[in-house]
Amino acid sequence: MAEEATTLSELEVLVELQELDTRLSQLAHRAATLPEREQLALVHEQDSKLEDELNQLASELTALRQSQSDREAEIQNLEDKVARATSSLYGGEMTSPKEATVLQSEIDSLSGRQSLLEDQIIEIMEEIEPFAKEESRIEAERSEFQLQIADLQERISNQVTEIESEQESVMEEKRDTEDRAGSRLSGLYIENRKRMGDHTAIGRLVGTSCGACFLEIAAVEIDRIRRLPSDEPSECPECGALLVR
Ligand SMILES: [Zn+2]
Repeated sequence: MAEEATTLSELEVLVELQELDTRLSQLAHRAATLPEREQLALVHEQDSKLEDELNQLASELTALRQSQSDREAEIQNLEDKVARATSSLYGGEMTSPKEATVLQSEIDSLSGRQSLLEDQIIEIMEEIEPFAKEESRIEAERSEFQLQIADLQERISNQVTEIESEQESVMEEKRDTEDRAGSRLSGLYIENRKRMGDHTAIGRLVGTSCGACFLEIAAVEIDRIRRLPSDEPSECPECGALLVR
């Protein structure tokens, strides 16, 4: 392997592993921070404000409609009474004019109450009108939001699917690279990554400085490192990254 006509170090595979892991974290970050997620949260927030307003309106409307229908029921009741009194008055069973006067005055009083209720109903209906208009306006706005929510969810889910398939292929590439690295180098990489974090476990030796911490390495150390077998990684004396040379 060391005799092959390649200028790449056998340790190069460690850089590849780190790059693949970096791609995996970038993909995970991209999936978690899709701009549509923020937009979706915003639309949900606006929609839930409208929902509160709508509930408020609904309870006012329910009260108004209830008071309208109470009056309508009372009017129905009054009309029945007027009908009964009228039929007594003109039904031919009347004997005394005094009784007729009592009945007539009852009819007048019932009709007076009825016309009062009818006026009140008109007032209530006038009160209902702006609330009902506002209710339809909010309902229309909410259905617009529902469309936006569905659209955003679909866009998120499409992008997540795309990202997941990209993750799959990077994972596959990583398995191949690990096979190529062999268990010893893979193991070293995993250990160092655990210890040092995502992007600084492996450093390329650039001239005499470490590619992970960018610090200059003492000449005597460089000398020692260069004398190691080509597949033998060494740690940066400054930051502990595995140096690829
Ligand atoms: Zn370093």
